[in-house]
This record gives sequence, C-alpha cells and structure tokens, in this order.
Amino acid sequence: MGYPVSYYCPHCGAVVEVERDGYLADKSVTPYPLAGWAYVDPDDDFEADDADGVHFVCGESDAPDLTWTDVVSEADDVVNPGLESPCGRDFYLSFVRYENGREVESVPESDYVVIGGQGPSSPRGPDAGPRGPGGFSPR
Ligand SMILES: [Zn+2]
Repeated sequence: MGYPVSYYCPHCGAVVEVERDGYLADKSVTPYPLAGWAYVDPDDDFEADDADGVHFVCGESDAPDLTWTDVVSEADDVVNPGLESPCGRDFYLSFVRYENGREVESVPESDYVVIGGQGPSSPRGPDAGPRGPGGFSPR
C-alpha cells in the first residue's frame, strides 16, 4: 500500500504530498536535474524501474497521487521564501541510484538543496565548497 510523502519546492517552499509505494529511496529535491538522472512526470509510473526521479512544476503538476497542500515550508534551504507560492517553477525529486551495487554520486553542477534534517547546509557562501566526498568540479 502507498503512503504519503511530503516534499517542498526548493524555490518557494510549497509543500506537495506524493503517494508513494515506498520501494525507492529519495536522494534529494533540487531546483535542477542531476546529471545522469532520467526524470518523468508525476503522472507517469515513476515507481517503475526506468525512472530516476520526478520532474515537478510547482503547483501545476497533476497526478492522481499528487496533492498540492496549502502549506509553505519555512525550511532554511528554501531559496526564495518570499516568493509567491506555488511559484510554477521546475524542481526535481531524485531517487538514489545504484550501479553495480554502489550508490551513484551526483555531480554537483550548482548549489543543491538537500532534503532537510541532514545538518546545516551551506548555500552559496563566499567559499561554497564541496558537499561531502565525491569531489567538486570548479567551473
Ligand atoms: Zn515553488
């Protein structure tokens, strides 16, 4: 049976509830797609094996298992807390991927927003450094 999981838009904080089957581990919610991840729309069968994540349009994506709540997250990593919400921007839910039994690390292309509760994040500080092991490619 499914159960609802809440995510919030990293741009404005709009909270969306998604009915999940629970087979896939979530990696992160980001304003940009991760390199190498294949995203599907929420009304596709994103629990299927060939989807690495889900592409949402804030407040506009529509699917039977999707509920846009009236809640706006006040999490510290919401980029534009003052933004009108929902904001209609794209964001991406990424699942954990495995290749040859090892978790695939995403290559940071920008400042990603990690799903909350993993300690202080350091968004765009003066010396925005690598986030954890795995390397950081300077532009
Ligand atoms: Zn939004």
